[in-house]
Amino acid sequence: MWRIIVLCTIINLTVAARSTYENYKVFKIIPLRLNQFNLLRNMKGHGYLFWEEPTTIRRPVKLMVAPHQLPEFYRLLYKEEYLSYELLIDNVQELIDRTTQSIDSGNATYNLNIFPFTKYPTLKDIYNYLYYISLNYIDNVKIIVIGNTYEGNKILGVEISFNNKRKNPGIFLEGGIHGNEWISPATVIYILHQLLTSTDPNVRAMAESHDWYIVPLVNPDGYKYSHTTDRLWRKSRGQYDKFCLGADLNRNWDYMWGLDSDRSDMCSNKYAGLTPFSELETRVLKKYIDRVSNKFDTYISFHGSSQLLLFPYGYTTAHINNYNEMYTIGQIAIAALKRRYGTEYLIGNTAERTHIASGSTTDYIRGTYRKPYVYSYGLRGKDNYDFLLPPDQIIPTGQETLDSIMSMLREIKRRKYLKQQATKW
Ligand SMILES: [Zn+2]
Repeated sequence: MWRIIVLCTIINLTVAARSTYENYKVFKIIPLRLNQFNLLRNMKGHGYLFWEEPTTIRRPVKLMVAPHQLPEFYRLLYKEEYLSYELLIDNVQELIDRTTQSIDSGNATYNLNIFPFTKYPTLKDIYNYLYYISLNYIDNVKIIVIGNTYEGNKILGVEISFNNKRKNPGIFLEGGIHGNEWISPATVIYILHQLLTSTDPNVRAMAESHDWYIVPLVNPDGYKYSHTTDRLWRKSRGQYDKFCLGADLNRNWDYMWGLDSDRSDMCSNKYAGLTPFSELETRVLKKYIDRVSNKFDTYISFHGSSQLLLFPYGYTTAHINNYNEMYTIGQIAIAALKRRYGTEYLIGNTAERTHIASGSTTDYIRGTYRKPYVYSYGLRGKDNYDFLLPPDQIIPTGQETLDSIMSMLREIKRRKYLKQQATKW
């Protein structure tokens, strides 16, 4: 009897603990004057949640408003500032419900063809898949335990090579650093799956002429929490503060750390951590990257939902020395991406195209290892979905991103060849 009561209590607590966003709305607001900008900034910390924070005048802000705050929100905007706004998402929970249909992996046999690309995988699905391929592609796939997270979950990576005799150019793929951006690990695993199973000669040529270092889920704690408790959870789960947990793992890297505005606010979704590499996740991943850093020259990170292809730096608007080359390769990559379904991307360096953001993996890889080709995809899902992209978009996102990467790597290869020829003469 006691057992039943305890069990029921636990179930009730679990159900009660899951955050709900019924009738929460997301607005896009563009502050055109300083007082409008200040009004938005002052709303921070008063129960409003910014999906895109106010950083400069004229840059769009995305703000989530709870139903009980709507009257105040309308009053503030209309009466005091005459600030125009656009409703992007009418009911956040409705979109969440569409994304949270995860399959129960249970004891399912992990056949490569049944990996749930039509549903977002759980943490367990991802682990199962990685172990499955490491056992079934024993000659080509090596599983790497990169380290443990704050909550004791494993960060796993895979190294893929189809040619152990020759040293191929290395590509590093990084996904899932933000818990709520589910399309990121799903896309990385889609690409990984294609590298192993595609019969398309172009994919095979790309797969087999490179060595791959792939970490699909850098933030398992955040990802898991976003599945079990709060779909909007972005950060890690380390505890510093009674109320605000975790750090933004993509602000915690030790290269020009803490130059943006999120260094002091522990409750910010983009909190950079106490110090550079204060987070277990970034420390263990850094160690692994150190170990393989002489094996790759191209690093690609995947994020949710902006349809942007970005490159360093984020901490400064100053251009890197191969800015023009990066821009041109990026243009080729987004043109290839558009060809399949017409999905439009924009390109640029992070600081100019979005805003100043320091301590990211891509800044670190470029700044510390001086890697020539470092890109970051903000995948599908602009205003109407943002990171709550429905699962029926996983496969098209994977397909177009794979097209894009194939073009990118072909162009990089062509340029490397031309540079080699030029040095010969
Ligand atoms: Zn992200």
